[in-house]
Amino acid sequence: MAKFIQGVTNYDEWRDHAKDSKKYLERMALISELLPKKDNLGVIDQYRLANAIAVSSLTGKLEDFYAISTSVLMNPICQCRAKVEGCICKDCYAASGAQRFVGLCQGLETNYLILNNFLLAEEVLATIPIPSTNGASRVESHGDAATEICAINYTRIVDSHKHLTFAVFSKNTSLYKEAFDVEGKPNNMVFVASSPIVNEVMEVPADMVKYVDHVFTVYDLEYALAHNIHINCGTWRANDLDHRCKNCMRCYDKANREYYINELKK
Ligand code: SF4
Repeated sequence: MAKFIQGVTNYDEWRDHAKDSKKYLERMALISELLPKKDNLGVIDQYRLANAIAVSSLTGKLEDFYAISTSVLMNPICQCRAKVEGCICKDCYAASGAQRFVGLCQGLETNYLILNNFLLAEEVLATIPIPSTNGASRVESHGDAATEICAINYTRIVDSHKHLTFAVFSKNTSLYKEAFDVEGKPNNMVFVASSPIVNEVMEVPADMVKYVDHVFTVYDLEYALAHNIHINCGTWRANDLDHRCKNCMRCYDKANREYYINELKK
């Protein structure tokens, strides 16, 4: 269960708090042990790593969803974007959430190290238990793939859990190209290209167009009103408890043909 630590406002401080977590230390020890032989891993070691991948139970907008995510605080692409004026990453809820909730942050950190360093076989990734209350799941509710290795691992996780539909959100769409070209894009995946800049629809690279199901863009209210932007994300009334992903499901419905999904900035 995530533990709230008051006053923790930066990553180094969080790491001090996290040091005494038994599960975190065990996972870090496993990662340290296996990193030197990451390109030549035996199947038993792959199972040990898959078993160490954390699945988060989500709240708020994503109440009743479970997700596998990685740490934005460790992701150099996310950290660069967080400095760009106009980028949604400047106000990253995932970064503040990860800093406040130690249990969550520990899982995101070890997930980042495992999923970005070790290429795991699909039959191994198939053993990760992913709970679901509605037949759907989310990849990267808190971060983004930082490497092609991570994109391939996510593709294999989705493909090996065919009983669920996964929405995979990413601003780093090009990292998924190799994964989809080689592995094939799983039929149970909805790939959502997430626009990095507020009020600006991202340009999907030409070689990714065939893989992208939706482009998700966040707008501020003034811009949306001035430009007659149709806000169709179901969370636009944030304080109404009914307006959550589980009551909308636009991003999880394979039959939904709305290419552009637009959300208001909170
Ligand atoms: S469009 Fe619907 S499913 Fe997608 S993020 Fe918004 S509320 Fe969630």
